[in-house]
Amino acid sequence: MKPDFSKIPKPVRDKLHKLGIQGPLDLVLHLPLRYEDETHLYPIADAPVGSPALIEGEVVHAEVSFRPRKQLVARVQDASGELFVRLLNFYPNQQQMLAVGKRVRLLGEIRRGFFGEEMVHPKMRVVSDHTALAEALTPVYPTVNGLSQPTLRKLIAQALDGRELHDTLPSALLRDLDLPAFEPSVRLLHYPTPDIPSRALAERMHPAWLRIKFDELLAQQLSMRLSYQRRREQSAPALRVKGELATRLIDSLPFGLTGAQARVLQEIRRDLVSPHPMQRLLQGDVGAGKTIVAALAALDAIEAGYQVALMAPTEILAEQHHKKLAAWLAPLGIQVAWLAGSLKPKAKAAAIAEVESGAARLAIGTHALFQDAVSFTELGLAIVDEQHRFGVHQRLALRNKAQGDGSRQVEPHMLMMSATPIPRTLAMSFYADLDVSIIDELPPGRTPIKTRLVSDARREEMIEFVRKVCSEGRQAYWVCPLIEESEALELQTAQDTHIALSEALGEFKIGLVHGRLKPAEKAEVMAAFSRNEIQALVATTVIEVGVDVPNATLMVIEHAERMGLAQLHQLRGRVGRGALESSCVLLFASPLGEVAKQRLKVIFETTDGFVIAREDLRIRGPGEILGARQSGVPMLRFADLERDTELLERARDVAADLLQRAPGVADAHLQRWLAGREALLKT
Ligand code: ADP
Ligand code: MG
Repeated sequence: MKPDFSKIPKPVRDKLHKLGIQGPLDLVLHLPLRYEDETHLYPIADAPVGSPALIEGEVVHAEVSFRPRKQLVARVQDASGELFVRLLNFYPNQQQMLAVGKRVRLLGEIRRGFFGEEMVHPKMRVVSDHTALAEALTPVYPTVNGLSQPTLRKLIAQALDGRELHDTLPSALLRDLDLPAFEPSVRLLHYPTPDIPSRALAERMHPAWLRIKFDELLAQQLSMRLSYQRRREQSAPALRVKGELATRLIDSLPFGLTGAQARVLQEIRRDLVSPHPMQRLLQGDVGAGKTIVAALAALDAIEAGYQVALMAPTEILAEQHHKKLAAWLAPLGIQVAWLAGSLKPKAKAAAIAEVESGAARLAIGTHALFQDAVSFTELGLAIVDEQHRFGVHQRLALRNKAQGDGSRQVEPHMLMMSATPIPRTLAMSFYADLDVSIIDELPPGRTPIKTRLVSDARREEMIEFVRKVCSEGRQAYWVCPLIEESEALELQTAQDTHIALSEALGEFKIGLVHGRLKPAEKAEVMAAFSRNEIQALVATTVIEVGVDVPNATLMVIEHAERMGLAQLHQLRGRVGRGALESSCVLLFASPLGEVAKQRLKVIFETTDGFVIAREDLRIRGPGEILGARQSGVPMLRFADLERDTELLERARDVAADLLQRAPGVADAHLQRWLAGREALLKT
């Protein structure tokens, strides 16, 4: 009997939707998160400490104690020994289970507690002499509130019942890959047999898991390759790159390009001359010098007779780009338009007119660029800075700009830039629809940044440090804490800090910049700071990206423990931008949580963005780094990008091969894996 999905009661179906389950096939692919081993009973005395164990015994003592807090403490005994059970929150029925004289079976991790060995919140059931042990491992499924494991198990069993699960991959391919067939793999993962080593299942290294992970990675690679191919089939203006303007700009610079900059410029140029849209990601650590590369690419496009758009995620950053690029391009006689969301209507209209008439060859701005009001005469190249800050949709919106009224089927070339280096495996996975260029070399003459971790009890000393730096003619940033719960409180804190620093450092001018300032005001403060009319700048995290004031050599970050690794790395990257020795002081409040401790250790030990990214991945997991929506692909549920590199590499090769030789197979595979997920992404 095939279950009819629509017969499932709506409240349950709604919960299933939250899990990305839209139909029976999604239920089949809803695989266990982990397994519980209730096949083996340990005598209490022999039970392992620190890993889950099943024990059984009689409750010999139970009491509710109130110190240090209300909790239920019971003692359970078997022939070999005894242990404590502690419940920090409990319901009457749990209290009944743990009543003296009851025989209970407990599954949990034994720890050495204050009184002796204990289990905290074990899984419990009351048993009798005849209660059998489980024959195989018990699957535990990912779920949401209100959807119980037994319900899920029942629904999955119904979905699997009598369903034929054909293999999407040819058996010859599976033989080559040394992977088992799909159907037995899925059934085994839902219903493990007693002979399967529990570690292979728990660690997802059993061949059945490998098959599923491979399938998932293959689906992801296929979908990204397809979208890459679809874009490659579009037309783009093949730019006739002469490079004369670019050469003139290079000649006017006080520095020469690094080898890495020259190389990535060549990679970009190779794309620009092709009649298909460039889809290139330019990666380079903070301070690697991406802006000049973008400017040179822009000049190529302008020289070939096209317009260029440059979009940045924040107005401060866009403003900086505008200043810098206008200064570089003006001597070459190129007009640059500044399009900010905050411009006065008149100025905005003027900027839009400049772009529409084609007088402005380069337009720089924030999201305002997307406004339907702005249209380019001939957009040849769109550059997106700090692309990881934008969603896929915004990126697409910019690309669509180029199509204007839709009569031209030509797309602009796209150059995306990101200072958030990501590990190779992540790049391979999430940027499989892009070509990637990497600036893996910092400009010469940079002195490494000294990072110090300082308890916030020593805040006063740090104010003195700011005084010292400023009296040497240098400048400092003072970053106020991120307060996620309340923007108002964050603002208040920044204002208070500004007052406090202004009083303490009366001989210097202290500036303040925060998210609530009008963009023009922000720009004014930043400009004063870059002219050294302001010596110390109190800021909220708005200065996170892109700000470039080489004379600033000190960065103090308050409550650094609240910030993520990528954010800290970006912030620190605001100093150390010249030859001067720079420091970054991370003030933290004790006690530190475990994750915060790990993060601060990483940021203290290295300034290498790639190392930081790898650690970030380890601490947070890829989903949080890129986000399902942002990456434009469904999140991986089973594969682990850190551990499954080899599978990923194979999936990538197979994807390329299938698309070329067996598109039907690719299609069927995508159908199975992405149908429900895509719906989930759209919600
Ligand atoms: P990011 O890659 O973080 O965007 P920027 O483009 O802002 O970095 O460059 C950081 C600083 O390095 C800027 O002041 C820029 O002018 C300078 N710079 C860029 N390329 C070089 C180079 N080849 N040699 C020396 N300085 C450079
Ligand atoms: Mg930059």
